[in-house]
Amino acid sequence: MQSSTVTRRTALATVGVTLAASGLVPKPLRAQNRTDVLVVGAGLSGLNAALLLEEQGFKVQVIEGRDRIGGRLLSLRDIPGNPEAGGNGIGSGYGRMIDTVERLEIPMLNSAGRAQITPFELYLDGERISGEQWPTHPRNILPEAFKAFSPRLVPLVLLRQTNPLASFEDWYDPKSKPHDISVYDVFKKNGFTDDQIDLTFNLNVSYGTSAHDVSALMMWFNDGWVASMEGGPPTQLSAIGGNMTIPETMAKALSGEVHLEREVVGVRQDGNGAEVVCADGTVYKADHVVSSLPLPVMRYIKFDPFLPSVQSKAISMVPYFPMTQVHLVAKDPFWEDDEWSPDMWTDTVAGHVIANRHNVNNSDVTSLTAWARGFTAHKLDQVSPEEGMAWVVSEFERIRPSAKGKLESRYIKSWMRDPFAGGDYAVWQPGQVTEFLHATGQAHGRVHFCGEHTALSNRGMEGAMESGERAAFEIMNI
Ligand SMILES: Cc1cc2nc3c(=O)[nH]c(=O)nc-3n(C[C@H](O)[C@H](O)[C@H](O)COP(=O)(O)OP(=O)(O)OC[C@H]3O[C@@H](n4cnc5c(N)ncnc54)[C@H](O)[C@@H]3O)c2cc1C
Repeated sequence: MQSSTVTRRTALATVGVTLAASGLVPKPLRAQNRTDVLVVGAGLSGLNAALLLEEQGFKVQVIEGRDRIGGRLLSLRDIPGNPEAGGNGIGSGYGRMIDTVERLEIPMLNSAGRAQITPFELYLDGERISGEQWPTHPRNILPEAFKAFSPRLVPLVLLRQTNPLASFEDWYDPKSKPHDISVYDVFKKNGFTDDQIDLTFNLNVSYGTSAHDVSALMMWFNDGWVASMEGGPPTQLSAIGGNMTIPETMAKALSGEVHLEREVVGVRQDGNGAEVVCADGTVYKADHVVSSLPLPVMRYIKFDPFLPSVQSKAISMVPYFPMTQVHLVAKDPFWEDDEWSPDMWTDTVAGHVIANRHNVNNSDVTSLTAWARGFTAHKLDQVSPEEGMAWVVSEFERIRPSAKGKLESRYIKSWMRDPFAGGDYAVWQPGQVTEFLHATGQAHGRVHFCGEHTALSNRGMEGAMESGERAAFEIMNI
């Protein structure tokens, strides 16, 4: 801490000269009552940065807009089995997550057995098509080599077969620019028709809204990252009591305060310090700020001085994945009546229905989640939450008559409508990896950026942890 302070001071003096020279600094910020670092956002990335900085002796405070800790981790604790409305699966390669839960002694269980123990069945135009029927079914328009695959698996298989990256981390090497093309182009180059792309990628998208607006380079990175975790014993860790327990425990482990319900609206800095300005008028001061704000939120934050142009452009242009979930509880196990799988892949607003098996033995269905993604999420977001839940239930019952009168809708979560998220996660469009990826994590004087969208070597929760670590190291001058 002592030796890095000297280095930090020298660095800060340099930044001060640069900003002052730019003429953008109206008056020196006052130096009293301030902490070393203010972290904006009490999600995984911000809390990891805060913990690492405290370990090195920095005084840290966390400013959070919501009335709860955890950001895009949201465990629904009043629904049987505590289903997750946010980040759920922690894989074997999640080194930082696993290290953190071990150090903080957070009880975990390996829920790999929860995942899809019954086959997915397709529901197209109201017709149920089982896994056995699919390969020879008249609705199966897939190319011969893919006919045996469920439509949802086809993009994964194609992207695995065509992945040009020697190492998944090559995705952020400028040399990979020629691969920063659309997923649509990859399908077309491999002979797929538009109808086949609609059925396999666009129906229940996992990224973006269609194959046109998703970068294949991002998908190949994702594929390589997932592949790096394959081979070992199936690992899908989750925290007992819900994954939100992880950031909650991280926050408790901090010595510095976590201020809830403080919506940040501005971040300003000069050669003397930095300030975070909240909607209620509260101003916090520090030597450094770590911002973990998702890009859509940053569109409404006033940075003074303004962020450089590439970073500003990324904030205004990188889309977040539209995702709305409806959480349902079955009053009776209707799947035992019709003897079909409770897991469903549909072309309705119920989207992709996953049966959650969050009990101790991973077998009983505790709740169901209808995942509406892309355009389907947008459709649900256009009506009120009550209408959205009723719509999903009525479509569910229409295609699955045995469920009639047996579904209770308990919760709807639109990540797009959430003012503190603006979507599920960053989805890089074709060309955007090359143009924006590095810029989004670039420090701006005393302001450092983290958040899953700035991660280079991991995705999701582990990406968030990686990014918080990088931001903390920047401040430590490592
Ligand atoms: C539905 C869903 C499923 C997912 N599934 C998985 C999965 O299976 N595996 C996986 O690894 N990842 C998954 N993820 C992704 C993972 O949850 C996220 O990548 C991770 O939690 C992001 O952490 P973060 O710190 O970058 O952002 P966040 O958690 O969003 O943290 C940012 C924080 O900033 C706060 N904030 C926002 N605006 C303001 C403001 N103006 N003022 C003050 N505070 C503000 C937010 O409230 C939030 O607490 C999923 C996400 C979702 C939504």
